[in-house]
Amino acid sequence: MSVGFPDFRLGNVLATSFTGTLSERHGEAVERIPTPHRLIDWLQINGLNVESCTAAQLDRARELREAVHAVATAAAVGSDLPKSAVQIINDCSIEGRAAAILTAGGNRLWRLSSPARVEDALGVIAADAISIIAGERDGRLALCASQTCQAAFFDTSQSRTRRWCDMNTCGNRQKKARLKAAQSRSAESPN
Ligand SMILES: [Zn+2]
Repeated sequence: MSVGFPDFRLGNVLATSFTGTLSERHGEAVERIPTPHRLIDWLQINGLNVESCTAAQLDRARELREAVHAVATAAAVGSDLPKSAVQIINDCSIEGRAAAILTAGGNRLWRLSSPARVEDALGVIAADAISIIAGERDGRLALCASQTCQAAFFDTSQSRTRRWCDMNTCGNRQKKARLKAAQSRSAESPN
Protein backbone atom coordinates (compact mmCIF):
# COMPACT_ATOMS: atom_id res chain seq x y z
CA MET A 1 0.00 0.00 0.00
CA SER A 2 1.20 3.48 -0.82
CA VAL A 3 -0.09 5.86 1.78
CA GLY A 4 -0.76 9.41 0.65
CA PHE A 5 -1.47 8.60 -2.99
CA PRO A 6 -4.90 8.42 -4.65
CA ASP A 7 -6.32 4.88 -4.82
CA PHE A 8 -6.65 3.04 -8.09
CA ARG A 9 -10.02 2.43 -9.69
CA LEU A 10 -9.85 -1.14 -10.81
CA GLY A 11 -11.99 -2.44 -13.61
CA ASN A 12 -11.80 -5.74 -15.47
CA VAL A 13 -10.69 -4.28 -18.80
CA LEU A 14 -6.99 -3.52 -18.84
CA ALA A 15 -6.96 -0.64 -21.34
CA THR A 16 -9.84 1.32 -19.80
CA SER A 17 -8.64 0.62 -16.26
CA PHE A 18 -5.42 2.23 -17.40
CA THR A 19 -7.15 5.34 -18.78
CA GLY A 20 -8.92 5.49 -15.40
CA THR A 21 -5.60 6.30 -13.72
CA LEU A 22 -6.46 9.90 -14.65
CA SER A 23 -10.00 10.51 -13.46
CA GLU A 24 -12.37 13.48 -13.49
CA ARG A 25 -10.80 14.75 -16.72
CA HIS A 26 -13.61 17.32 -17.09
CA GLY A 27 -13.65 18.34 -13.44
CA GLU A 28 -10.88 18.46 -10.88
CA ALA A 29 -8.60 15.86 -12.45
CA VAL A 30 -7.03 13.25 -10.17
CA GLU A 31 -3.69 11.80 -11.28
CA ARG A 32 -3.50 8.28 -9.85
CA ILE A 33 -0.03 7.50 -11.15
CA PRO A 34 1.79 10.63 -9.96
CA THR A 35 5.17 8.91 -9.55
CA PRO A 36 7.08 6.11 -11.34
CA HIS A 37 6.53 3.92 -8.28
CA ARG A 38 2.77 4.23 -8.52
CA LEU A 39 2.94 3.08 -12.13
CA ILE A 40 4.93 0.04 -10.94
CA ASP A 41 2.19 -0.61 -8.33
CA TRP A 42 -0.57 -0.30 -10.92
CA LEU A 43 1.17 -2.59 -13.40
CA GLN A 44 1.80 -5.19 -10.69
CA ILE A 45 -1.88 -5.25 -9.66
CA ASN A 46 -2.67 -5.88 -13.32
CA GLY A 47 -0.27 -8.80 -13.71
CA LEU A 48 2.51 -6.83 -15.38
CA ASN A 49 5.52 -7.01 -13.12
CA VAL A 50 8.25 -4.45 -13.69
CA GLU A 51 10.93 -3.76 -11.12
CA SER A 52 11.89 -0.26 -12.13
CA CYS A 53 10.48 2.73 -13.95
CA THR A 54 12.20 5.93 -14.99
CA ALA A 55 10.59 9.36 -15.25
CA ALA A 56 10.78 9.04 -19.06
CA GLN A 57 8.98 5.68 -18.94
CA LEU A 58 6.24 7.21 -16.77
CA ASP A 59 5.89 10.00 -19.35
CA ARG A 60 5.58 7.41 -22.10
CA ALA A 61 2.94 5.54 -20.10
CA ARG A 62 0.90 8.71 -19.66
CA GLU A 63 1.29 9.48 -23.36
CA LEU A 64 -0.14 6.05 -24.18
CA ARG A 65 -2.90 6.53 -21.61
CA GLU A 66 -4.06 9.79 -23.17
CA ALA A 67 -3.82 8.29 -26.66
CA VAL A 68 -6.03 5.37 -25.62
CA HIS A 69 -8.44 7.80 -23.99
CA ALA A 70 -8.64 9.93 -27.14
CA VAL A 71 -9.10 7.01 -29.53
CA ALA A 72 -11.57 5.14 -27.29
CA THR A 73 -13.61 8.34 -26.86
CA ALA A 74 -13.73 8.87 -30.64
CA ALA A 75 -14.71 5.24 -31.16
CA ALA A 76 -17.44 5.50 -28.50
CA VAL A 77 -19.10 8.48 -30.20
CA GLY A 78 -18.47 7.23 -33.73
CA SER A 79 -16.10 9.98 -34.90
CA ASP A 80 -12.87 9.63 -36.87
CA LEU A 81 -10.01 8.22 -34.81
CA PRO A 82 -7.34 10.88 -34.09
CA LYS A 83 -4.32 9.91 -36.21
CA SER A 84 -1.52 10.96 -33.87
CA ALA A 85 -3.11 9.05 -30.98
CA VAL A 86 -3.55 5.95 -33.15
CA GLN A 87 0.15 6.24 -34.03
CA ILE A 88 1.16 6.32 -30.35
CA ILE A 89 -0.93 3.21 -29.60
CA ASN A 90 0.62 1.39 -32.57
CA ASP A 91 4.16 2.46 -31.65
CA CYS A 92 3.68 1.21 -28.09
CA SER A 93 2.23 -2.06 -29.35
CA ILE A 94 5.20 -2.58 -31.70
CA GLU A 95 7.77 -1.66 -29.01
CA GLY A 96 6.41 -4.22 -26.54
CA ARG A 97 8.02 -7.64 -26.27
CA ALA A 98 5.84 -9.38 -23.72
CA ALA A 99 4.92 -13.03 -24.17
CA ALA A 100 1.64 -14.61 -23.17
CA ILE A 101 2.29 -17.69 -21.01
CA LEU A 102 -0.29 -20.38 -20.25
CA THR A 103 -0.07 -21.80 -16.75
CA ALA A 104 -0.75 -25.44 -15.85
CA GLY A 105 -3.96 -24.20 -14.21
CA GLY A 106 -5.15 -22.73 -17.50
CA ASN A 107 -4.53 -19.07 -16.73
CA ARG A 108 -2.68 -16.54 -18.84
CA LEU A 109 0.36 -14.73 -17.47
CA TRP A 110 2.45 -12.05 -19.11
CA ARG A 111 6.19 -12.51 -19.24
CA LEU A 112 8.14 -9.36 -20.02
CA SER A 113 11.45 -9.56 -21.89
CA SER A 114 13.10 -7.80 -18.93
CA PRO A 115 11.80 -6.60 -15.54
CA ALA A 116 13.05 -3.12 -16.47
CA ARG A 117 10.97 -3.00 -19.65
CA VAL A 118 7.98 -0.80 -18.86
CA GLU A 119 7.68 -0.67 -22.67
CA ASP A 120 6.72 -4.38 -22.68
CA ALA A 121 3.91 -3.70 -20.23
CA LEU A 122 2.73 -0.73 -22.30
CA GLY A 123 2.72 -2.99 -25.34
CA VAL A 124 0.26 -5.33 -23.60
CA ILE A 125 -1.98 -2.38 -22.70
CA ALA A 126 -1.79 -1.01 -26.26
CA ALA A 127 -2.75 -4.40 -27.70
CA ASP A 128 -5.67 -4.61 -25.25
CA ALA A 129 -6.82 -1.14 -26.36
CA ILE A 130 -6.58 -2.20 -30.01
CA SER A 131 -8.72 -5.28 -29.41
CA ILE A 132 -11.56 -3.32 -27.79
CA ILE A 133 -11.43 -0.37 -30.21
CA ALA A 134 -11.35 -2.73 -33.19
CA GLY A 135 -14.53 -4.34 -31.87
CA GLU A 136 -12.96 -7.77 -31.45
CA ARG A 137 -14.33 -8.28 -27.98
CA ASP A 138 -17.87 -8.72 -26.81
CA GLY A 139 -18.95 -5.35 -25.43
CA ARG A 140 -19.57 -1.73 -26.29
CA LEU A 141 -17.36 1.33 -25.83
CA ALA A 142 -19.28 4.09 -24.07
CA LEU A 143 -18.65 7.34 -22.22
CA CYS A 144 -19.39 7.83 -18.54
CA ALA A 145 -22.58 9.87 -18.03
CA SER A 146 -20.96 11.97 -15.30
CA GLN A 147 -20.23 15.38 -16.85
CA THR A 148 -17.03 15.85 -14.86
CA CYS A 149 -15.79 12.37 -15.81
CA GLN A 150 -16.83 11.32 -19.36
CA ALA A 151 -14.32 8.47 -19.19
CA ALA A 152 -14.44 5.90 -21.96
CA PHE A 153 -15.34 2.48 -20.58
CA PHE A 154 -16.11 -0.93 -22.03
CA ASP A 155 -19.64 -2.05 -21.29
CA THR A 156 -19.92 -5.82 -21.07
CA SER A 157 -23.31 -5.86 -19.37
CA GLN A 158 -25.96 -8.05 -20.98
CA SER A 159 -28.21 -5.11 -21.86
CA ARG A 160 -25.32 -2.80 -22.90
CA THR A 161 -26.95 0.02 -20.95
CA ARG A 162 -24.27 0.77 -18.36
CA ARG A 163 -24.03 4.53 -17.82
CA TRP A 164 -21.05 5.00 -15.54
CA CYS A 165 -17.41 4.09 -15.80
CA ASP A 166 -17.50 2.90 -12.22
CA MET A 167 -20.52 2.15 -10.04
CA ASN A 168 -18.68 2.81 -6.77
CA THR A 169 -17.63 6.33 -7.68
CA CYS A 170 -19.43 8.03 -10.58
CA GLY A 171 -22.57 5.86 -10.33
CA ASN A 172 -22.85 6.32 -6.59
CA ARG A 173 -22.33 10.06 -6.75
CA GLN A 174 -25.11 10.38 -9.32
CA LYS A 175 -27.43 8.29 -7.16
CA LYS A 176 -26.73 10.46 -4.11
CA ALA A 177 -27.27 13.66 -6.11
CA ARG A 178 -30.62 12.34 -7.35
CA LEU A 179 -31.65 11.40 -3.83
CA LYS A 180 -30.67 14.82 -2.49
CA ALA A 181 -32.62 16.58 -5.26
CA ALA A 182 -35.68 14.45 -4.52
CA GLN A 183 -35.39 15.22 -0.79
CA SER A 184 -35.14 18.97 -1.31
CA ARG A 185 -38.12 18.83 -3.68
CA SER A 186 -40.26 17.08 -1.08
CA ALA A 187 -39.10 19.52 1.62
CA GLU A 188 -40.22 22.44 -0.54
CA SER A 189 -43.68 21.08 -1.17
CA PRO A 190 -44.83 18.94 1.73
CA ASN A 191 -48.21 17.35 1.14
ZN1 LIG B 1 -17.04 8.13 -14.59
